[in-house]
Amino acid sequence: MLLRGARAILPDGVAEVVSLLLDEGRIARVIRGDERAPAYISEKIDLGGLTLLPGFSDLHIHGAVGVDAMEASADDLHQVARFLASNGVTSWLPTLVPSPYEDYQKAVEAIEGLMREQDEREAASRVLGLHYEGPFVNRAQCGALRPNYFRAYTEKSALDTLPLIRSSQAVHMMTLAPEIEGGVNLVRELTARGWVVSIGHTRASVEDLERAREAGAHHMTHFMNAMVALHHRAPGPIGWGLLRDDITCDVIADGKHLDPLTLELVLKCKTAARVSLISDSISAAGLGDGEYSVWGETITVEQGRTRNLRGNLAGSVITMLDAARMMLRLGASEADVARMCSSNPARLIGREHECGSIEEGKRADLVAIDEKGDVRFTFVGGRIAYKG
Ligand SMILES: [Zn+2]
Repeated sequence: MLLRGARAILPDGVAEVVSLLLDEGRIARVIRGDERAPAYISEKIDLGGLTLLPGFSDLHIHGAVGVDAMEASADDLHQVARFLASNGVTSWLPTLVPSPYEDYQKAVEAIEGLMREQDEREAASRVLGLHYEGPFVNRAQCGALRPNYFRAYTEKSALDTLPLIRSSQAVHMMTLAPEIEGGVNLVRELTARGWVVSIGHTRASVEDLERAREAGAHHMTHFMNAMVALHHRAPGPIGWGLLRDDITCDVIADGKHLDPLTLELVLKCKTAARVSLISDSISAAGLGDGEYSVWGETITVEQGRTRNLRGNLAGSVITMLDAARMMLRLGASEADVARMCSSNPARLIGREHECGSIEEGKRADLVAIDEKGDVRFTFVGGRIAYKG
């Protein structure tokens, strides 16, 4: 297949006219400017007037379109994957909240089921693994998570209570608080097992954060949200995260979880090289305002803002596309957005060799956006997963 005549955000900058030759789901050639495309290609898609970006990768999704990852079947997850594709997301990690073992097990079976068969199904955003948000997090920073299922890491067997995806390809990510009992040992153990470790729902001291970093934690989850606030005499996780160049973070760029000015502050301190965007979307995403039952409680969505009965924000109802638009409005360049939505998350989960940028040899995970910022095409592994 030949994708013809798009403006494209490439790793070395914006190219005004690019065609991509796709073969077996990958980008076989990046053809710039006047360079001739091979004539023998019969299947061609004209992308004139559109801007092509690497497909977005969302590492923190609880659900969308009425589906909650904790209660979903493989079919339900596929519905979410279709919705995500319509918003430019080409890969994602269903994200699990602290729950009883049986609930975790059911959720992981569904994820594993979809991963086994997603290449044969109708094209949609690809599940790459899963993200455990908790249960080893701090009760005092629970956010919308249910603290009655939080745990301490007292012995290695505590990890046996978390079901795994039985595939060597699957990504396993965990958000944890290093200050809980056994927290730093947990970072060390997960790192040794090849997990992606992220610090979040935390009130860790700078000493604990340094120990966690040395043990293998180099990322922070929904930075500033569900973390003890910055105080000038106690900089804590926020001061530490802003300052440390070897620590990356992700943010919920909906303008509600973080004030737009705070988003600018994060971008200025961390630069686009160290920030990923996530949605942290809940099942109500894509459904509009209303009252929804999520994780055993009522969550109200009002003008795009979520609220549980305790008055806490309870995840978002945005997609990566909304987050990307927000960052553009705040002055980020398209190249910055491609980093924050694609290459940074791909690097974090160890998939940068495979996706996250428009380069020869990588998977043809792509999104084509029009002048208004709407998605016109999403390609996943070279297949059309959305056409608007
Ligand atoms: Zn979350």
